[in-house]
Amino acid sequence: MEKLTIVDGKFYKGGIAIPVEFGNKEQIDVLNKAAKIAEAFKKGGLAVEVDYLPETTYEATVSFQCICSKYLSFYTETDSDDVDHIFDGKEIGCKCGLRYSAKWKENQLVVLLNQKSIN
Ligand SMILES: [Zn+2]
Repeated sequence: MEKLTIVDGKFYKGGIAIPVEFGNKEQIDVLNKAAKIAEAFKKGGLAVEVDYLPETTYEATVSFQCICSKYLSFYTETDSDDVDHIFDGKEIGCKCGLRYSAKWKENQLVVLLNQKSIN
């Protein structure tokens, strides 16, 4: 079954717009989840972990969930084992129009929602 997502304040399922239904549990759950993610972005960024495969090159990825509930990831290959700082300053955009950037802050890699994209 297709997952319910929010794009530009509207519900979609499998690319089809779904009308808002008061008391619809699935819609409420999606909204609550989006609110929780949005709150983390407001409070100085969503803390993320770097996943990497230590071989001859490091394939490093950072995955997180956009407010619209789509999963996004930063990906890079490097020969350095200092993988945390590689993502510092990298940006990624979601299909829903929101843009994010990764930042190394207080010994933790966080993903920030770009302020410009909120309006
Ligand atoms: Zn999105």
